[in-house]
Amino acid sequence: MAGERILLVEDEPNIARGLLFNLHAEGYTVIHKEHGKDALEAFRQKPPALVVLDLTLPDMDGIEICRRIRMEDPRLPILILTARTQEKDRIEGLAAGADDYLTKPFSLDEFLLRIQGMLRRSGWYREKVEQGDIYTFGNNRIDMQEQTAQTPRGTISLTELEIRMLRTFFSREGEILTRPELLQSVWGVSPDTETRTLDNFIVRMRRYFEEDPANPVHFLTIRGRGYRFVNTVAAASKKKGEP
Ligand code: CA
Repeated sequence: MAGERILLVEDEPNIARGLLFNLHAEGYTVIHKEHGKDALEAFRQKPPALVVLDLTLPDMDGIEICRRIRMEDPRLPILILTARTQEKDRIEGLAAGADDYLTKPFSLDEFLLRIQGMLRRSGWYREKVEQGDIYTFGNNRIDMQEQTAQTPRGTISLTELEIRMLRTFFSREGEILTRPELLQSVWGVSPDTETRTLDNFIVRMRRYFEEDPANPVHFLTIRGRGYRFVNTVAAASKKKGEP
């Protein structure tokens, strides 16, 4: 959506210039910061609609910035940019609450598509907020409106992307969802390079909601095909004593 405020945190002048130019061309309002401290200050002064965050900054680690933003705003879409390609860095970024990940070098088209997708989902979410909805499975109770969940490990906050993924699974309970379907439905991207992102999200879902994340009973891997969500596990969450 034109005019939406994007906080761009990037210290490499060449990259920043290209991104600024293209974001402006798309009609976004861009606040550009090169330092983590300034970025957090800008975020607190006037929250943006989305954050684009480089991981290696002169004064702070982007992961730390991501974590702090996430603590204050569990719903703000965050796109991480990084030259790091190590799997553990990706997982760390997603664990810190980032919604998506682009590895440098990336194409500007891809970048803009991701931004559009994230903003669209976030707008879609804002409309849904009017209707409260609760979903339960196992020992979990998820409040879609509040983006919180009561789980065997306590109450947690969920990001928009996590809610989006849960909605996809819940609406097609018992069906096999292929990786391309999930990528399309949750991230709005065609399934090409970032397929590990999906696996990392599934790992998170299990860590949040499964009694034993190593032996999931709700978020199942269907080898070679995709994933399946199962609400009711035999002898688990059956209601007793119904008339
Ligand atoms: Ca950098």
